[in-house]
Amino acid sequence: MKPPPFDYYDPTVLADALQLLAEHGRDIKILAGGQSLLQLLNYRLIRPPALLDINRVAELHLLEQDAEGLKVGATIRQSELEKFPGLAEINPLLAEALPWIGHFQTRNRGTVCGSLANADPAAELPAVSLTLEARLTLERNGGQRVVSSRKFFKAALTTVLEPEEMLTHVSFPAWNYGDGWALEQVARRPQDFALVGVVVLLTPAEGACARARITVFGTGYPPARCEAAESFLNGNAWSASLLDEAVARVRTETKARSDAQATSEYRRHVAGTLAGRALLRAAQRAGLTREDRHG
Ligand SMILES: Cc1cc2nc3c(=O)[nH]c(=O)nc-3n(C[C@H](O)[C@H](O)[C@H](O)COP(=O)(O)OP(=O)(O)OC[C@H]3O[C@@H](n4cnc5c(N)ncnc54)[C@H](O)[C@@H]3O)c2cc1C
Repeated sequence: MKPPPFDYYDPTVLADALQLLAEHGRDIKILAGGQSLLQLLNYRLIRPPALLDINRVAELHLLEQDAEGLKVGATIRQSELEKFPGLAEINPLLAEALPWIGHFQTRNRGTVCGSLANADPAAELPAVSLTLEARLTLERNGGQRVVSSRKFFKAALTTVLEPEEMLTHVSFPAWNYGDGWALEQVARRPQDFALVGVVVLLTPAEGACARARITVFGTGYPPARCEAAESFLNGNAWSASLLDEAVARVRTETKARSDAQATSEYRRHVAGTLAGRALLRAAQRAGLTREDRHG
């Protein structure tokens, strides 16, 4: 099918883009990479009277690294970040996560910020941003606010973005060298959206896990941190029984929906299994253990 008719705007200056958002409000949709939006248009699931193509706005094509971290503007493609020189040292978790997203063709168009704004529960980048505690800059005509990733995702496919706001860039904090990381997911076919996935970041200190971050995604709900499992790990010396207990806590605290692809019980169970694998890989990378099998 073809999309329904729409007015098309493609400003080259951010101020003009924000002005258009202010004027049209709910009647305009931002077009970034189009990898999610065009499907909705072509199936006529949405019929916005106007599209705001942001691809020619030069200010949004921003990819910078400094002592604060990595700043990624609204038109940076997932593939551009994937190929950013030194990404594996600058932010190894992002480097591990990006190749999991769709296919290289979709990553060549799809943007990092578009994936965050789209807030698909099964998408990798929202879960990674929650784990890295990224900060998102939302701009409107005459103002801006910075929102933490914890506050950004409200529900499946829903964020705190107002109709007149644009996510102009996301900031990932500087990498803490010594941290261990891992992303594990299962999907029906390679490169499909995850049926369930887990992202882990561990900060070691003197053989113990000083700080754990565990995010489960693909549950039908927005990505969620497993706070009970995290606080159980925090401050404890690494051991196989510690890992077993953390896995059990992930299974207990994960909220999951059933759908045509998987039941909620399956998702909760697999979330625990993946958390075990991800925690073990992250612990190896953080120098907390040499074991290479869990369960
Ligand atoms: C075949 C296929 C497989 C895929 N597999 C995966 C996968 O495995 N994992 C995964 O995570 N994703 C996957 N995707 C989705 C892909 O990652 C998209 O790129 C992403 O969801 C949206 O980014 P986009 O730039 O294409 O946004 P668009 O499609 O242009 O926009 C998506 C939504 O976000 C809004 N939006 C976009 N940018 C902004 C902004 N800066 N500020 C405010 N609102 C904004 C739009 O108005 C729209 O509502 C897949 C897509 C396809 C087609």
